[in-house]
Amino acid sequence: MSFNPAKAIEGIHTFGPNYEVNPPISDTSTYAFKKAKDMYDTFEGETEGMFLYSRHTSPSTAYLSEALATMENMPSANVTASGMGAIVPAILQLCGAGDHIIASRTIYGGTYAFLKNFAPRLGIETTFVDITDLPSIEDAIMDNTKLIYCETVSNPLLEVADLPSISKISKKNNLKLFVDNTFSPLSISPQLHGADVVLHSLTKYINGSSDAMGGVLCADEDFINSTKDVNTGASMLMGASMDSFRAASILKNLRTLPIRIQQHSKNAMYLAKKLEEVGIPTLYPGLKSHPGHEVFSKIMNKDFGFGGMLTIDVGSQAKADALMEKMQDDKLGYLAVSLGFYKTLFSAPGASTSSEIPEEEQETMGLSKGLVRISIGLDHDIENTYQRMLTCLKEIEII
Ligand code: PLP
Repeated sequence: MSFNPAKAIEGIHTFGPNYEVNPPISDTSTYAFKKAKDMYDTFEGETEGMFLYSRHTSPSTAYLSEALATMENMPSANVTASGMGAIVPAILQLCGAGDHIIASRTIYGGTYAFLKNFAPRLGIETTFVDITDLPSIEDAIMDNTKLIYCETVSNPLLEVADLPSISKISKKNNLKLFVDNTFSPLSISPQLHGADVVLHSLTKYINGSSDAMGGVLCADEDFINSTKDVNTGASMLMGASMDSFRAASILKNLRTLPIRIQQHSKNAMYLAKKLEEVGIPTLYPGLKSHPGHEVFSKIMNKDFGFGGMLTIDVGSQAKADALMEKMQDDKLGYLAVSLGFYKTLFSAPGASTSSEIPEEEQETMGLSKGLVRISIGLDHDIENTYQRMLTCLKEIEII
């Protein structure tokens, strides 16, 4: 496979009118037209390179969208105000009353809550399946099914979706495959394995400094243009557009994503191996013991490793809470829900980011109360981090 997403990022050369190496920020919400006809034509989507209103597109959001489309090997993209601001319009652009969705049961709690609690108000029903059980996906297909929705590496259980096999099912049945790639940017390029729409929360690894919200949907030109249509586009009409200043700041951070992902992956692999060795139940796609290890290894872009997310099971919520508080006190990281930061972040998903998922369902999917999800930071001396983690684990009597 010759596509290299890091080369795609490096290949982006965007100069401003004065050869600025950082493109100028378009500090305006509205754009003037020399000729009235140009405005009418732009409204109809019949002009090239003309801007109308920043909720639709600005030069700054266009630069970031183009960079992310290139990174995901997709023809087009549209950046949004948050990850949910990309996911919800992407789904609603394709699905309306009477349609059916098949979704992985282990996905980000917000997406799960949208599909389970909100989409039915709009007449859209979802069947949640174990995405690693391919026959269960086929069995869930109905006449009105429109799309299969999954995360490449799921939040929080780190299940790995076998994208080539799932896309075979979706193509055979004329469905669309939507893939949220938030946990595995660069490591896996879903488009290469049959995804029709690739989504990200930019809030996480892609921005990487926990100071911004953002999202993106990447797809073919027709789909992206349809979401931005002034009369019928879900992104345009729901209004979760990204501001130009934010687009400019995220574009600057995107440039260091390849080296950040390499370091996150290297550190996470090191810790996962060590933690497994001392007998802590550890889930990390880079470990041979991980049920998705083989699939991940088969579809990954080898330069970027298995990503920076791992989970450990410490037996009970009380122990999970005590461990996280201790690790925070010892400056190993922060007890916080997000991920992809330079510092390690940890949370217990059952009571936080996945609390939207009812308790019985959490149990069936293996989301135990003692599960701690850890986004491993960019620590320079990871052996030292490990030793300090070990001290915390001993003090809380986990080992
Ligand atoms: N997708 C995944 C996998 C996530 O983890 C999150 C947030 O945690 C989202 C989407 C939603 O992104 P945002 O918080 O930027 O709306």
